[in-house]
Amino acid sequence: MATAASLNELTDEQRAICEMVRQFADEQIIPNAGHYDHEDEFPEPIVEQMKELGLFGVTIPEEYGGMGLDLATYAMIVEELSRGWISISGIVNTHFIGSYLLIKFGTDAQKQRYLPRMATGELRAAFSLSEPELGSDVQAIKTSARRLDDGNYEINGTKMWVTNGLRAGLVFVLVRTDPAAEPKYRGMTCLICEKQPGVAENTGEYAGLNVPPQIKKMGYKGVESTELVFDGYRTPAASVLGGEQAGLNKGFSQMMDALELGRVNVAARGVGLAQRALELALRYAQERHAFGRPIAQHQAIQFKLADMATQVEAARLLTRQAARMKDAGERSDIEAGMAKLFASETGRFCAEECLRIHGGYGYSKEYEIERIYRDAPLLLIGEGTSEIQRMVIGRKLLQRYKI
Ligand SMILES: Cc1cc2nc3c(=O)[nH]c(=O)nc-3n(C[C@H](O)[C@H](O)[C@H](O)COP(=O)(O)OP(=O)(O)OC[C@H]3O[C@@H](n4cnc5c(N)ncnc54)[C@H](O)[C@@H]3O)c2cc1C
Repeated sequence: MATAASLNELTDEQRAICEMVRQFADEQIIPNAGHYDHEDEFPEPIVEQMKELGLFGVTIPEEYGGMGLDLATYAMIVEELSRGWISISGIVNTHFIGSYLLIKFGTDAQKQRYLPRMATGELRAAFSLSEPELGSDVQAIKTSARRLDDGNYEINGTKMWVTNGLRAGLVFVLVRTDPAAEPKYRGMTCLICEKQPGVAENTGEYAGLNVPPQIKKMGYKGVESTELVFDGYRTPAASVLGGEQAGLNKGFSQMMDALELGRVNVAARGVGLAQRALELALRYAQERHAFGRPIAQHQAIQFKLADMATQVEAARLLTRQAARMKDAGERSDIEAGMAKLFASETGRFCAEECLRIHGGYGYSKEYEIERIYRDAPLLLIGEGTSEIQRMVIGRKLLQRYKI
């Protein structure tokens, strides 16, 4: 098992990449996030620079044009991006889950077709499980696909909360393919649905897939969250993830595998957001005076800083441990759940403590913490709520330590 010391040891490559991304966050993301957040505008220039830096292909193998890096390194990159603004990491998050699904389960033809363009960011991916009536209870999905005589699958139903739902050119969609299957998860398939990026009403070969106007949110702005309405949309049998023979009705386990990875990813976002809140709190506490001295000299404020720093460090270690276990091919369901639970709650805690330290100014849109405070709650919800993480951890603990 990795020790705390080894978890904090970075390879030369990891150190160089983290420094590069941190500098990118300091120079390009942090100074501009306020504008894009307040306008709820997609940060196109930042995304263009991320393409140039190769950040869309971090985990894609070199043979397909990516960097071929592991999850541990990816998690460090996500932490740095999220320290800048979690909406930026949201743009790569679902893309990264899509590339993981292709690398792990895709056929050679599927990898060849998508990964090279995904590595450059020319083609970006979304990931879609949730529906208007469900999120946690994935087995209750209603969106269905039926095989037509011509070999295509026709999809009908509505998906909800699809991050990057408008701009993605590719969506990994979980659909019901065998309505009679018991248990239900045995009748679900992941279909790789192509669409026109940035187009609300798809036409031609992608007709039957519409993207309603993006959902207005309290935070996590700039990156769109949308519904996807499938109404007679057709996709070839070759779009079954892993091929029709191997992949039909295997979608639930494929998606759950990807979610485990997604949890490490959300944990890394929690660490980055909390780290930024801590930095802002440390600075403001030394600048602001009350009762004749910097508020940092009041013990109550020092205790807040101490609790924040301790939680950030613990969240980082849990996240790195979960990432390294997954990289080593070890079972990491409990660890990924713990990392996601603890780091997302740490994000919320640090955002609130930082806001309190800022007093009235924390409530002003002039200050970065106001945005962070609105962004933090998303991490408690996405990739499984805190309640669901506790259920997963509890259930898996009892399986692992069964007497
Ligand atoms: C901004 C944003 C982006 C998102 N992006 C995506 C995306 O890209 N792709 C995607 O597929 N989904 C996405 N989601 C959806 C997200 O995954 C779901 O919102 C989440 O899984 C929770 O589902 P729900 O909202 O339906 O809540 P529900 O499942 O209805 O849960 C409501 C409440 O009940 C609790 N609860 C539910 N079941 C239990 C139980 N058994 N025991 C105890 N408590 C329980 C929950 O913890 C929660 O507190 C996104 C959501 C948001 C807000």
